[in-house]
Amino acid sequence: MLAAAAFALALPAGASEFDTKLASVSATVPTARADAPPMRPVALPRALAVPGGVARVDLGAASSSPRPIAWFGEARVRVLDTDGRWQALVGLPLDLRPGRHELRATVDGQERRVGFLVGNKDYPVQRVTLPDDRRVRLSAADEERAEQEAAQIALLKKTWREFPDFAGNAASGTAFARDALLLNPVAGRDAGKLGSNFGNRRIFNGEPRAPHSGLDIAAARGTPVRAAAAGEVLATGDYFFSGNAVFIDHGEGLITLYAHLDRIDVAPGDVLAAGQRVGVVGATGRASGPHLHWGVILNGASVDPRLFVPAAPKS
Ligand SMILES: [Zn+2]
Repeated sequence: MLAAAAFALALPAGASEFDTKLASVSATVPTARADAPPMRPVALPRALAVPGGVARVDLGAASSSPRPIAWFGEARVRVLDTDGRWQALVGLPLDLRPGRHELRATVDGQERRVGFLVGNKDYPVQRVTLPDDRRVRLSAADEERAEQEAAQIALLKKTWREFPDFAGNAASGTAFARDALLLNPVAGRDAGKLGSNFGNRRIFNGEPRAPHSGLDIAAARGTPVRAAAAGEVLATGDYFFSGNAVFIDHGEGLITLYAHLDRIDVAPGDVLAAGQRVGVVGATGRASGPHLHWGVILNGASVDPRLFVPAAPKS
């Protein structure tokens, strides 16, 4: 039921039709298996094959063949059934060079290489002034801490887990989102007011730093922050740059990050429904004021969260 509810929230048009289809199929297929073809086409993010975007790569007809297994570099990628076709959903790192790339895939027992093109995108430069210069020009101790945390976070981002009830089996008490769409994690007054600074090349207090790997959503301190989809809390922590942060694993390489929280309300291992509160907005870590830094990670790559939110304006 959770997966169906999230789907209805995410897709205003035709949701009731899908609910009906889902109900009728569920009646004849009581248990969903992760390796079985999904019951219905899933809702996908908007494709944008640029660094920081998501490519959809067609892997053939889904009707009779088992779900293909696909890799982009060293990273396993999610493969979904949509409209009777297998499609790989490939997160593209911000530092990927534009041009031709390829997936390695096992399709119907055959090893294949499937090429796809990545276009160019020029992200704007953003200058940020921070009152606390120690978050920009780090002491030796802070530098060491930040490096250790960066290594931990890099590992978290590579997480790949297949949940047994990936297709959403309500009877088991958990229902991980099989649709690769997300809810805006800041509801209420600021809902829909998504920022536009993903990918910006940033200069803090005059110092060039790594491109912005998430989306900043302005909101008052204490505003509830909600899980963008059903999932399991992968990690929580107090990080030098991200401040109080929560990582949620949505399965098969889709992970969301909520950073700079004033307070964390969940613990690692907690199983969350879409929309469940994970904490409240704050300004912990490297932040110029209260806001949510929302990260979306797909197969280890930080990608533009706006691609996953159906109501978001086109960039
Ligand atoms: Zn941010």
